[in-house]
Amino acid sequence: MSENTVKCVKCGVALVLTKTVFQYMGRSFTHDVPTCPKCGAALIDRELAKGKMAEVERQLEDK
Ligand SMILES: [Zn+2]
Repeated sequence: MSENTVKCVKCGVALVLTKTVFQYMGRSFTHDVPTCPKCGAALIDRELAKGKMAEVERQLEDK
């Protein structure tokens, strides 16, 4: 197990990468997000969310 393993604050269980679908501006995209196997809480990185949104906005502008 790597040192960067993130644990659920609530359960103390190591989060597992789970494919999660995001929806933004009518587009959907999937990303592996660390999710607690016990309570299902997903840890969505603020930078990741920003990056994905910017990606979608770029795609829309290209059209
Ligand atoms: Zn949990």
